[in-house]
Amino acid sequence: MSCLFCRIVSGEIAATKVHEDERMVPFADVNPQAPMHVLIVPREHIASLNDVTEAHDELVGAMLRRAAALARERGYADRGFRTVFNCQAGAGQTVFHLHLHVLAGRTFNWPPG
Ligand code: 5GP
Ligand code: ZN
Repeated sequence: MSCLFCRIVSGEIAATKVHEDERMVPFADVNPQAPMHVLIVPREHIASLNDVTEAHDELVGAMLRRAAALARERGYADRGFRTVFNCQAGAGQTVFHLHLHVLAGRTFNWPPG
């Protein structure tokens, strides 16, 4: 298995997991860009948002709701948080296994860099 996030999901590579269920494994980003920086990673290997189909609607909805729940647990529901799917290298994607970034704890600019 060559995919880094598949290896983290399976436990072969260590990560600081913050929640786990049958569909997804959220864990702390190893190079955090904000005081809270969690990656919500589905167990299923999906390369990018380009590969999400109608069959994934429930999964993606659950990922977004998990993002909001984790932000809320940490006190960021009202202060604000940022969710990001980088899709393809031109948008900053470096790991080709779908993941939702959840960032909070500082001010975020718009438009993003
Ligand atoms: P992308 O650039 O693909 O949107 O996001 C990939 C993210 O994965 C980056 O923020 C990067 O810091 C994080 N990352 C890369 N390798 C590892 C790792 O081995 N462990 C963890 N926890 N995060 C990683
Ligand atoms: Zn994978």
